[in-house]
Amino acid sequence: MRQTAENLRAQGNTIAFVPTMGYLHEGHLSLMRKGRELADILVASIFVNPAQFAPGEDYEAYPRDPERDAALAEQTGVDILFTSQKNDLYPEGYETYITQTHLPGHLCGQSRPTHFTGVMTIVAKLFHIADPNYAIFGQKDYQQLAIIRKMTRDLDFNIEIVGGPIVRESDGLAMSSRNKYLSPSQRQSALQLYRSLQEVQKLVDSGETKAAVLIETAGNIIAAAPETDIDYIAVCDPDTLADKKIIDRPALMALAVRVGQTRLIDNTILYPQVDNAG
Ligand code: AMP
Repeated sequence: MRQTAENLRAQGNTIAFVPTMGYLHEGHLSLMRKGRELADILVASIFVNPAQFAPGEDYEAYPRDPERDAALAEQTGVDILFTSQKNDLYPEGYETYITQTHLPGHLCGQSRPTHFTGVMTIVAKLFHIADPNYAIFGQKDYQQLAIIRKMTRDLDFNIEIVGGPIVRESDGLAMSSRNKYLSPSQRQSALQLYRSLQEVQKLVDSGETKAAVLIETAGNIIAAAPETDIDYIAVCDPDTLADKKIIDRPALMALAVRVGQTRLIDNTILYPQVDNAG
């Protein structure tokens, strides 16, 4: 991959890169389409990254379907599909990991304290290998996108990080490879994540600005659905991810909920009412 990227760049091509863990769905494909528009060559990677799973998480169970993924990637215009196995990227004796001071301490980092170190480490390695001009990440993983943007600036990668909007099923459930784990009744419960975000936006539209009220509203909606266990619901600054008490400018509402054994995340940006008087 590295040699190929080097040759392509030497010939004057630009490269767009979409890293994934595979089991592709429309969320991934939307990022690939964006990449297709941005650059001459579109590279996608599939690697289930062990470093971002903690012991006891679903690394082994994570869904995999390499043949289907290859067909979907090809149909979506991917020029090079870069796949690798654990030992290719973390050979025996591997011992270098990337950390970041503030952003990983919020939201998902509280219950997954090693997760973002695993993400940053693999993304940095893949950036070196694929040498892209652009890399595209989904806003579904809002915190991940923020952390990657920061890492890219801090470590002087000459790569433009591009965000893509959350792609949802027709009933609103954010697409995720992990949705496969849900039973039909759990899938019904999972719908409450997006519904709660919609209800909260309605409250904000009607003038509510107190984060505590919004969090409680979302919490009640989700808790009323069977088999849900809320990890966190937060209203925070979209840049620093620090909690906000009052929404006086656009704020991120992010949540993580276990439905049965499956941990799902979702988020939205809440836009406060325009102050006509101001
Ligand atoms: P994953 O395979 O889950 O690691 O995701 C690979 C990339 O696809 C990440 O940048 C994710 O944020 C993005 N992604 C996953 N699900 C969605 C979705 N429903 N909408 C948009 N992007 C997504």
